[in-house]
Amino acid sequence: MIRVTLDLTCSICDHDQFFLPVRAEEIQQIRCANCTAFKCYSADLENTMIALNRDRNSRDSSSRDSNSRDERHPSRKERLRQDRANAA
Ligand SMILES: [Zn+2]
Repeated sequence: MIRVTLDLTCSICDHDQFFLPVRAEEIQQIRCANCTAFKCYSADLENTMIALNRDRNSRDSSSRDSNSRDERHPSRKERLRQDRANAA
């Protein structure tokens, strides 16, 4: 397992560091580095990261000169929740 800081937060403790599996034979699950709750499967995380990057890229290209855009958009956590709801 490797410990990494991700652009995600734990749904339980809001921590942003996670343990990722590095070997194929390890269980493909992401664990919070703080409370050790299982965050999600790595495949789901990958999809989440792709969705976040796509979301961020499209927004950056349309409002690159805005410094206050974070205030106008839902928090990172709310966006994650929306992504899950959309995926379900
Ligand atoms: Zn946690």
